[in-house]
Amino acid sequence: MGGKDKLRWECGTCGQQHRGLATVFGAQAPDPWVHATATERQAGELTADMCVLEIEGTWHYFLRGHIEIPVVDAPGDVFSWSAWVSLSEESIQKVAEHWDDPERASLAPVFGWLCNELPYEQSTISIPTHVHNREPGVVPFIRLDPSVDHPLVREQGTGISLHRLAEINNAVMG
Ligand SMILES: [Zn+2]
Repeated sequence: MGGKDKLRWECGTCGQQHRGLATVFGAQAPDPWVHATATERQAGELTADMCVLEIEGTWHYFLRGHIEIPVVDAPGDVFSWSAWVSLSEESIQKVAEHWDDPERASLAPVFGWLCNELPYEQSTISIPTHVHNREPGVVPFIRLDPSVDHPLVREQGTGISLHRLAEINNAVMG
């Protein structure tokens, strides 16, 4: 009966009502795991959070995190790409050692390279990042290097609109 009817909200860009949008999309594994041979995968390991893989004699270490992007016209809402970054052996050891540590959030951020191709016109592979650990049970936060000129980096810096979130939903599920 009158008042504020949020359901009548219309997108200022396209005039549609964007509802029921997913706010997390992601990759089950780093892309190198997907491209690895069955033998390489058998010698490696993939869990929900970490991955180790030997490619041509070199071990690679991956950690899953969330590239969080605020949704600017839905205050408090955040969109996340669940994605994998490659870390040095030293970094992954430090993260693994402290995985269940209640003080995990106080670990210094570690450097990593983004290892998933996300649906952007420019490749997202090897964007430099820093991974910030949070308390146990919370997926680490991936902060893209803000100096990199890339649409995904700009989106993390400035946020996205609901209209853009709808576009991402279409790009992933479409
Ligand atoms: Zn729209």
